[in-house]
Amino acid sequence: MKYAIIADIHANLEALNVVLEDARQQQVTHHACLGDVVGYNANPKECLDIIREMNMPCVMGNHDEYCSADLELEGFNPHAAEAVNWTRQQLSAEDRGWLRNLKYQRLAANFTMVHATLDAPKRWGYVFDKLAAAASFTYQNTPICFFGHTHVPVAFIRDSVVRGGTYSKFKIEPGRKYFVNVGSVGQSRDGVPKATYVVYDVDEGSVELRRLDYDMATTQAKIRAAGLPERLAERLTHGK
Ligand code: ZN
Repeated sequence: MKYAIIADIHANLEALNVVLEDARQQQVTHHACLGDVVGYNANPKECLDIIREMNMPCVMGNHDEYCSADLELEGFNPHAAEAVNWTRQQLSAEDRGWLRNLKYQRLAANFTMVHATLDAPKRWGYVFDKLAAAASFTYQNTPICFFGHTHVPVAFIRDSVVRGGTYSKFKIEPGRKYFVNVGSVGQSRDGVPKATYVVYDVDEGSVELRRLDYDMATTQAKIRAAGLPERLAERLTHGK
């Protein structure tokens, strides 16, 4: 059993297609999605259709929540609010219902899936450091949990202490717990402007980060054509 673990697609169809094609070449047998299928980029409906069609387990992200609700957008910066309102208009009532029914965390195979944190999954906190990772570990009942939200691929390990750092490939060792950010398919933020995801080989017990080039110029042209904020196109170039 081999999983492609994808997160933070953010309506970037070009990046999603490249990731799914690479996963095919890696001979993955299963997929799992850690949320934020929509938001920021210009193909929310197309990306959501693919995820739904593939029938993969998926958890709720904050953008999935905002874009599927009817709430007023309080405390949002104006650019973010503009993108959320635009996304709402692209989705059918049925799409929004599907997003609204996603769970905040769930199990698949032998691992846990969550978008943001395990200690307060509905509060959308960010796990950037060992202290925040330690809080999630307290609630983690499987050896490995995959998460997203920060768009920064990093792995935290707990044995006698909690450690963390960047990774490319590692093996799961018994007696330890792993809290692993798989990076973002559709909007990188760690300075590497690529589509990122993880291949988790359940039988081999290995986790491999994969980073891929995609047709970013097309993604950016679509953002501009949709009238979404220019900054959303620009930031893809820098991966920030
Ligand atoms: Zn996100």
